[in-house]
Amino acid sequence: MAQIFCIANQKGGVGKTTTTVNLAAALAHIGQRVLLVDLDPQGNATMGSGVDKRAMELSVYDVLLESASIAEAAVVPDKLKEAGAGYAVLGANRELAGAEVELVGEERRERRLKDALAQVSADYDFVLIDCPPSLSMLTLNGLCAAQGVIVPMQCEYFALEGLADLTNTIRQVHANLNRDLRLIGLLRMMFDARITLQQQVSDQLKAHYGDKVFDAIIPRNVRLAEAPSYGLPGVLFDPAAKGSKAFVAFAEELVARGLRA
Ligand code: ADP
Ligand code: MG
Repeated sequence: MAQIFCIANQKGGVGKTTTTVNLAAALAHIGQRVLLVDLDPQGNATMGSGVDKRAMELSVYDVLLESASIAEAAVVPDKLKEAGAGYAVLGANRELAGAEVELVGEERRERRLKDALAQVSADYDFVLIDCPPSLSMLTLNGLCAAQGVIVPMQCEYFALEGLADLTNTIRQVHANLNRDLRLIGLLRMMFDARITLQQQVSDQLKAHYGDKVFDAIIPRNVRLAEAPSYGLPGVLFDPAAKGSKAFVAFAEELVARGLRA
């Protein structure tokens, strides 16, 4: 049975996609069977995993509309296999933006991904779902399908405020739609310890959320930002980079911790 994690934060640019692709690669590298699901119509996680979003035959859109299964639509990119960390990708592109409207009025519309994942659960150890920067029907499909939420965040002034909205949403989904869902942890992204404010916010996070703050910290590292233009996660593009090593440490922490909240 796969452990299913949603990588979510309604803010854009906090590092959700970077976290999803690098975690997928790091987990695959240490021998875990991984499926990455891209739920963002921007398709950044798809491209960042070496899949051309414009050339896909089937995508997560077809899965949500129930015209394809995940087994049919997911691919393991050659590029990832060659780099020694083959993980499966259920890709997304702009077509996905239409799914929201097309699903209006459909039955079980927020459970489409959950139902589809149930058929492949035995094939993977980890499923990682990259969410769009919103609390839309797409994100809701992610939250309904997952057992755990990983929240990447930057240690900035308004970060704590945004977290309250997200934890509220998680609570509501837990109460009404998915009793298995729990907040697993907060991941400090693009961290720079030399910036006093970041250190202060990090201390506040620890004070408020205690053990829910992951030990691993991902530093600001330009190699992680460069990697997507080569269609590879940073962890594979430059394994020696500080950011890559931090993601490997994070993957190990997650394997040890599992779904314990
Ligand atoms: P989101 O998916 O939340 O919108 P992204 O993962 O796309 O965020 O990250 C936003 C931008 O920040 C991207 O250009 C990405 O390359 C860059 N970025 C993310 N994490 C880091 C990091 N640790 N160091 C440097 N740049 C980063
Ligand atoms: Mg993204």
